[in-house]
Amino acid sequence: MTDRENWKARDAEFAKDYSVRMDDLTPEPLFESFQLPAPKVCLRCGREWASSLLYSPLGMRAVLPLCFSCAADWNFHGYHILKGPSAKRLLWRLATFKLKHPFSRPSILEIRQDLKSLLRWVRKMKRLRESQN
Ligand SMILES: [Zn+2]
Repeated sequence: MTDRENWKARDAEFAKDYSVRMDDLTPEPLFESFQLPAPKVCLRCGREWASSLLYSPLGMRAVLPLCFSCAADWNFHGYHILKGPSAKRLLWRLATFKLKHPFSRPSILEIRQDLKSLLRWVRKMKRLRESQN
């Protein structure tokens, strides 16, 4: 590699690193959309089909699918609803939901993926809140 190529490669790495770090520091307020890319189960109660979806404006990432009644709570209480049932109870309910609807979407893999993107958001917001104290 020539010096110039070397420098370019390092610069690209830095730019990428920088944008990741900026993303890490940007809070992601959620907004509700009724556009669901695929059928989803509500990840707040784990009992009903989702009727809307909370998105993060950062990269338009889906964060939390909500059923009709959880969405009403969201509109009324906002972020407080995220302190809903414990993770253990939610997983149990999701498993029960899947047993009742074994052949319809979302698949277990899709639910796992949705849970992962919800957890990403939760962890990030927690970290940001802790770093402010
Ligand atoms: Zn719900």
